[in-house]
Amino acid sequence: MEQNPNEKFTGSFTQQEPIPEEGIAAAVDVMRSGRLHRYNVKGDEAGEVAVLEQEFAAAMGVKYCLAVASGGYAMTTALRALGVRPGDRVLSNAFTLAPVPGAIAAVGAIPVFVGVTEALTIDLDDLEAKADRASVLLLSHMRGHICDMDRLLAICARYDLRVIEDCAHTMGARWRGRLSGTDGIIGCYSTQTYKHMNSGEGGFLVTNDDQVMARAVILSGSYMLYPRHLAAPAPDAFEAVKYDTPNISGRMDHLRAAILRPQLRRLAAQCAAWTDRYRVVEAGLRDCPGLRLIERPADEDFVGSSFQFLLLDWAAPKVREVVARCAARGVELKWFGAAEPAGFTSRYDSWRYAPSAPMPASDRILAGILDMRLPLTFSLDDCALLARIIRAEVSAVHQAA
Ligand SMILES: *Cc1c(COP(=O)(O)O)cnc(C)c1O
Repeated sequence: MEQNPNEKFTGSFTQQEPIPEEGIAAAVDVMRSGRLHRYNVKGDEAGEVAVLEQEFAAAMGVKYCLAVASGGYAMTTALRALGVRPGDRVLSNAFTLAPVPGAIAAVGAIPVFVGVTEALTIDLDDLEAKADRASVLLLSHMRGHICDMDRLLAICARYDLRVIEDCAHTMGARWRGRLSGTDGIIGCYSTQTYKHMNSGEGGFLVTNDDQVMARAVILSGSYMLYPRHLAAPAPDAFEAVKYDTPNISGRMDHLRAAILRPQLRRLAAQCAAWTDRYRVVEAGLRDCPGLRLIERPADEDFVGSSFQFLLLDWAAPKVREVVARCAARGVELKWFGAAEPAGFTSRYDSWRYAPSAPMPASDRILAGILDMRLPLTFSLDDCALLARIIRAEVSAVHQAA
């Protein structure tokens, strides 16, 4: 392909789309009403939050949904709802972002990290080797890469490991047709600005388990107003837990719910648009010497809201050179191999509150991971340009090596 060495990308990697006008109008109505708190409803009004929960549960094909203040809050609530206590060990991914081990630390538990494969998914052999060390796995579908969920569930069943899924990057994705977040006991989602729906901050927790949901609702700060929920079990499920479950407020409000409801209706179309962009970048980087693509399994319907590739076994200064050369042409790549945490990237060994043994096989992968956001404000042509720039700069550094 003809290369213009001066070609630069000028888009913003952190610019999401505007909130749909419908959502803005609904948010204005909520503000005019003055009733922003989820339990502040008039007459037989259900309120935006309860309706959103009902709609999200229906969209995910589950019985129950709780809307909360953040994805991180959904994860800590999930851990508490499963009875994780201070000092307990919780298995989780070595390749993930800081809110995941942070959620484990927030309940006083201790993360036990499981390695990452070249597919950027959890290493199931390592999981099997460590499975008897905990009773809960907080599984992060990091950057939208879904492992062989059937094999994972079989391992977890064998070791009585209960699974909480962190679907911050897989809302709307599927494994063999099953929506991400519905294979474990609990699925957690984030609606923070950089995820698949945008309410600034926010999140969801979904489950089919009556007791877990009753506990989660009370934990989130329902007082004794739980009968107002539309996607929660009947009041008798709360009788068994209501005196023993602390209130740790983290509710969603009507304002956020109002702007999320129209976004939920568009979720499938948005997911498809992300994946179209991903496929353009992938095609543009195919067979680039020195660069390894992450081949996506046929069983996975992923959402391509970000793109990763590997510069496997490259020397650190060469990786840094690629990052710098791309940055000079407007392309923001994040490197997960850096020794010091930077921006949103960090490594399991930078979370020093969580002791970890070295994992050389995972370190080799982490040292080669490059990561790029693909917001929907980028056009398909933008994505082709991103790929041309990355290809040119990776090739230049690779040839010089
Ligand atoms: C963003 C994120 C979360 C948590 O989301 P917040 O809403 O910011 O708390 C959890 N896991 C991963 C992998 C994330 O990227």
